[in-house]
Amino acid sequence: MYARAELFSNYLDFLDDRGHLNYRMVCTSGCGPEIQVMLPGRAKPEPLVGLVSNDYLGFTQHPKVKQAAIDAVIAYGTGSGASPAIGGHFSFHQQLEEAVAGFFNRDKDSAILYTTGYTSNSATIQCLMKKEDIAIFDMAVHASVQEGGLLTNVKTFLHNDLDKLEHVLKSAQHNYRTKMVVIDGVYSQDGDMAPVDKILALTKNYGAYLVIDDAHGIGVIGKTGRGVLELYDLLGEVDLITGTFSKTFASIGGYVVGRPELIRLLKFQSRQHLFSAAGTPADIAAILQSMILLQEEPQWMTKLWENIHYFREGLLNLGMDIGTTESAIIPVKVGDPKKTGEAGRLLLEQGIYTNPIIYPAVSRKDARIRMSLMATHTKEQLDKALKAFARVDNEIGISKHHKSLIEI
Ligand code: PMP
Repeated sequence: MYARAELFSNYLDFLDDRGHLNYRMVCTSGCGPEIQVMLPGRAKPEPLVGLVSNDYLGFTQHPKVKQAAIDAVIAYGTGSGASPAIGGHFSFHQQLEEAVAGFFNRDKDSAILYTTGYTSNSATIQCLMKKEDIAIFDMAVHASVQEGGLLTNVKTFLHNDLDKLEHVLKSAQHNYRTKMVVIDGVYSQDGDMAPVDKILALTKNYGAYLVIDDAHGIGVIGKTGRGVLELYDLLGEVDLITGTFSKTFASIGGYVVGRPELIRLLKFQSRQHLFSAAGTPADIAAILQSMILLQEEPQWMTKLWENIHYFREGLLNLGMDIGTTESAIIPVKVGDPKKTGEAGRLLLEQGIYTNPIIYPAVSRKDARIRMSLMATHTKEQLDKALKAFARVDNEIGISKHHKSLIEI
């Protein structure tokens, strides 16, 4: 155990020596479009343009959200004290479950809460899918979905590839008790969307169920921010919707929405719900207030989309390969992992905080700089980031222009 840890530690030191270990840096300010960060080897925190937060609408800093959390602490204290089944399910949890169900146009007993979005996926799939069953995953689903498949049979299909999905569905059709297809609404690395209507038709055709994790679609996609299912007008159609409160809803926790009989089963059989403490009063109050704001202050979504269009356009003008993004997640595809690490370092040097993503989060040849936009980014901040990208491109060549020169 210690030998393995040492080996891995050597690898981390190697990245650190190159200035490429830009992970787990300590931020000393709150989450936002500009953050104070302790950079490696520096004595004090520095202000950086933050392109790393999933707080898409900036609600973690909204005065009404903060006040709701403060009021909840005053009224209820700081913790819930137990898991939901044995004394930790309070009126505000009940209120949130009903609000989440209503958000997706379902009856009030159609939602269950978890303490993270991660467990919403892992626990739900683990509870429902056993060795007689098969879970069929798009290969780009989140790690939490993959963990959910540990107790069942799993097949994956090429990302968003309907022919490959049909092939797997056909081969599984008569061999398993339950067949469950799991996709994301918006994918967390490429920022692209699933063709949900076509996938739903296929799954129905082969007698499978459909589960969709729309962690990155809520508050971003759809006329009122209800995500990819709102866009496709399919809110009531899929078997299970999973999601998180850690992004647009400015807090922490997760949820699953589905038919009441399935949700009731999860409430009494899903281990991470049964045996793990419920969310704190402050967490839940912040979520409830954020859900209200999403309705009452649509200007944040408008502002987010202005930023998305502006930044996407700017990157494209620089010749960057931003793939197929259709959301607030914007990758700049670099390809080579070393170059990606170096790009991350050079961006940091210019005051721009991004996430270099390398294997195993993406395939070895698909390394990229990943960014998330917020409604509260200013044009000046986005311009500063674009300028920094231009300089990185000059220094180490990360645009399509440079890639095509290399090919020649
Ligand atoms: N699903 C997706 C697609 C995600 O990107 C994430 C986290 N980034 C999660 C689930 C997990 O959510 P949480 O952070 O609330 O655990």
